[in-house]
Amino acid sequence: MLEVGPLNLFYGDSHIIQDVSISVADGEGVAILGRNGAGKTTLFKGIMNGGPLARGPISHRGSDIVGLPAFARARLGLGLVPEDRRIYRHLTVSENIQMGRHAVRPGTQPYALEEVLEFFPMLRDLKDRQGFELSGGQQQVLAIARTIFSRPDCLLLDEPTEGVAPVIVQDIARQLSLMRKNNGTTLLLTEQNVWFARSCTDRVYLLDSGRIVFSGSWDEFDADAGLKTRYLAV
Ligand code: ATP
Repeated sequence: MLEVGPLNLFYGDSHIIQDVSISVADGEGVAILGRNGAGKTTLFKGIMNGGPLARGPISHRGSDIVGLPAFARARLGLGLVPEDRRIYRHLTVSENIQMGRHAVRPGTQPYALEEVLEFFPMLRDLKDRQGFELSGGQQQVLAIARTIFSRPDCLLLDEPTEGVAPVIVQDIARQLSLMRKNNGTTLLLTEQNVWFARSCTDRVYLLDSGRIVFSGSWDEFDADAGLKTRYLAV
């Protein structure tokens, strides 16, 4: 179980995330929806200790992770796929995937490169290409593959469909759902694409101006049509 909060996150004097509490059970899929600037990236950076000043509890699988640097959080099984993807432009796809090795948990083996290519067959044909030769969508799939390489038990995906072509969005949704089903991987993702978020998660939080304004099942979300118009740009 990933348990966060009540968490407050600050950039200097700006109080970005305010009393946010989130929990994700092992194997569960949870989406955080919110429009641009709602605080989604800041929240993930706070969970991973990647920038903002944090005040409040965060634990993963019963271990208090407050005070741990980002790499140590990764080695406890939290695998972040950042919004900006951070692909190594002059490394090949295969080399990029294997850069995920730094996050392997002690006593765990990373996946074999072949196994990762089986999760994302699209990357097989691209494996000798360099990062800069990929489309935005291909880079997104590569960023996910690189994080998965270290076998995280909880994947955090920050707006994985942003700027990605619909056909690749469907592919990512299918692979993440399979990963949950076959490997029991826990999924926490931020999104603006409601279709995608719904297709690979069980329930949803809505984040607006750094606060949680709704938490519930997808059925409960659908039952309140005003939520989309009030809190999402759709
Ligand atoms: P988007 O979908 O556009 O990425 P988001 O929901 O991820 O948006 P954040 O990037 O977390 O939102 O931004 C939340 C707020 O924090 C915004 O008002 C933004 O201007 C501010 N912010 C983000 N990064 C910093 C920073 N490094 N320093 C100061 N303020 C920041």
